[in-house]
Amino acid sequence: MAMAERMTAESRSKIMSAVKSRNTGPEMIVRRLLHSLGFRYHLHAKVIKGRLRPDIVFSGKKKVVYVHGCFWHVHKGCKGSHIPGSVFWQDKLARNSARDEATLQSLQEAGWEVLVIWECQLADRGWLRDELTSFLNKAKGQL
Ligand SMILES: [Zn+2]
Repeated sequence: MAMAERMTAESRSKIMSAVKSRNTGPEMIVRRLLHSLGFRYHLHAKVIKGRLRPDIVFSGKKKVVYVHGCFWHVHKGCKGSHIPGSVFWQDKLARNSARDEATLQSLQEAGWEVLVIWECQLADRGWLRDELTSFLNKAKGQL
């Protein structure tokens, strides 16, 4: 009985943290906006032979959209992105940044187009709508 209870609590907390990391507020804002604009996407679909799972995937267009938190992904020059003084955090954030760059490069090498939306940019919904629309409507390779 005690065992079963513990397992239930454990799996519940596992589910909760999965939900938290996948369905974050900023990503939901972008997803709702995309939906209202009539764009249909896949969530966390595997691209490039299953190596990467971008946030929002437009398989037919071969485009992906990431929604990045300014702190965790180190939005350079943004006031939401201060680097804490400790070496632990500096290393951690530097690793996040390096991973993001490597991901971006692999996607682009595999022919995917990538749009990164930063959390701080969500405040301007008009801008966000224009940005998403022009990214998704433009022909491949067109700037
Ligand atoms: Zn920012």
